[in-house]
Amino acid sequence: MIRARLRPALGVLVVVAVLGGGGCTASRVPPADQPVFVGSSASSTPSASPPPATPSVGVPSPAPGGTVAGATPIGTRAPVVDHGPRVGNKVALTFDADMTDAMLANLRTGRVRSYANLRILDLLEREQVPATFFLTGKWVQRYPEVTRRIAANPRFELANHTYGHAAFTRDCYDLPAQPVGELRDDVAKTFEVLEPYGGRQTRYFRFPGLCHDAAALDALAPLGVTVVDGDVVSGDPFATAWKPLVRAVVDHARPGSVVVMHVTEANAAMTDEALPRILAGLRERGLVPARLSEVLAAA
Ligand SMILES: [Zn+2]
Repeated sequence: MIRARLRPALGVLVVVAVLGGGGCTASRVPPADQPVFVGSSASSTPSASPPPATPSVGVPSPAPGGTVAGATPIGTRAPVVDHGPRVGNKVALTFDADMTDAMLANLRTGRVRSYANLRILDLLEREQVPATFFLTGKWVQRYPEVTRRIAANPRFELANHTYGHAAFTRDCYDLPAQPVGELRDDVAKTFEVLEPYGGRQTRYFRFPGLCHDAAALDALAPLGVTVVDGDVVSGDPFATAWKPLVRAVVDHARPGSVVVMHVTEANAAMTDEALPRILAGLRERGLVPARLSEVLAAA
């Protein structure tokens, strides 16, 4: 029944992807009230051939003691998180920054003016709202100043959304496909792009389209990351009006929720209009935005 409910959104996603928007909000509805962390083992079959136990791609290991948010033991299948504990009043606002080659071409030709929605940053900064940004490497390289701005804000966390917003599973909508054998290096490269910016670096990772399977999670084992899906999908890449976004977030957010939105502009045109109302709506419900690491750690 969950699938049936989501089907209409996926049709729109295909359209967006064809246009080069590369939407990434395929939705997985959280299974129930109780589970806090949705472990990968819950929905995946064991891998026949475990990946190597040591990183070999030049990415720093998580700091000793796991002080880097999202760091997990190297060599084990990456865990998948949908939301934090259903206690307290915190929710995580997460913003994805997609960038495919098709999107870069849109910028080059002038077909699209911008994929960096600075009005979102303006608002978050002005209202001092914590947030977490899942950045693709190509977006960071296209928008280094915006990335610096994000990294400079102590309320913001930086996370990894692949290098070029490719899909590493079959049938992930119309996202450009890449072999799963390239996933580890792709994600490692993205960390290498991100890390010089400093700020609140994490080992959180989000798959484009939220598409992952056992092979993809195993491929991440050498990197010690936590895969973050989310339990509240705004649907902002498809929005033609702000009201549905507000409803999607405010009506479904609960303590511990991880809200998926986009900081792109052309393929999430209504997000900045919706955001003030989303913040007000969350406030009315007694929910307080916090960094992802705080929401997942809340107990
Ligand atoms: Zn995405």
